[in-house]
Amino acid sequence: MSKVIAIANQKGGVGKTTSAINLAASMAALEYRTLVIDADPQANSTSGLGLNPKEVEVSIYECMVDGIDVTEAITETDIDYLHILPSHIDLVGAEVEMVNIERREERMRDALKLVKKDYDFIIIDCSPSLGLITINALTAADSVIIPVQCEYFALEGLGKLLNTIKIIQTRLNPELEIEGILLTMYDVRLRLSNQVVEEVKTHFQKIVFDTIIPRNIKLSESPSFGVPAIAHDAESKGALSYLNLAKEIMEKNGIS
Ligand code: ADP
Ligand code: MG
Repeated sequence: MSKVIAIANQKGGVGKTTSAINLAASMAALEYRTLVIDADPQANSTSGLGLNPKEVEVSIYECMVDGIDVTEAITETDIDYLHILPSHIDLVGAEVEMVNIERREERMRDALKLVKKDYDFIIIDCSPSLGLITINALTAADSVIIPVQCEYFALEGLGKLLNTIKIIQTRLNPELEIEGILLTMYDVRLRLSNQVVEEVKTHFQKIVFDTIIPRNIKLSESPSFGVPAIAHDAESKGALSYLNLAKEIMEKNGIS
């Protein structure tokens, strides 16, 4: 089996990139062939996995806009079983450049057809927008993970995101499922964090993952070393929480 999971929330700073990198690295640690697609012009998951975005010659941009074969852009990382389709700042212009392309919402799905069978999991790190590239990601995906930060205004914007998902299910990708809502940056000492957990669980019930990602320094500092937390400090709470998330997803999907 091969599953494409998009990590999306149009809010910035909620933990999309951290989740993409560390969930993918956990899947790779469990020896599943995993690909991260960096679908954000900020290229944070590209640099977080050790590549210098300025030195990337063929990126997702060329695949989406010029129709270059994705195999030319996919690169190995230092982690076994983990590959990346890197991003580049050029992706900022892609939405405008794609205006006249036919079936422009399906470019990513079409591009991935070539490599889908080579991976057990493909994790797409989306940008903080609901623009054309994110629509491409949601159209290419089998499911979506929605990270929600345990902070003020946690639920803000979620209605709009869920509505966008509904529109995509109706018009472009009837198979798209919600893999789960992921609570991130949880601080056990803060009453606010606990309130957000309660609120999100009351509101969304079963679609909330049991695994909650704690606020953890190893998660925030590992990108500066160009590695996921599991390669920086495998015993850290942050690394272990994403390993638990990977296992929860395997279980939910009947994979052992
Ligand atoms: P997004 O991709 O949604 O914009 P990021 O994953 O880049 O969000 O996270 C925003 C910031 O918060 C980054 O500096 C990141 O290192 C930090 N961060 C994310 N998750 C955690 C966490 N669980 N613990 C500590 N810092 C985190
Ligand atoms: Mg990001």
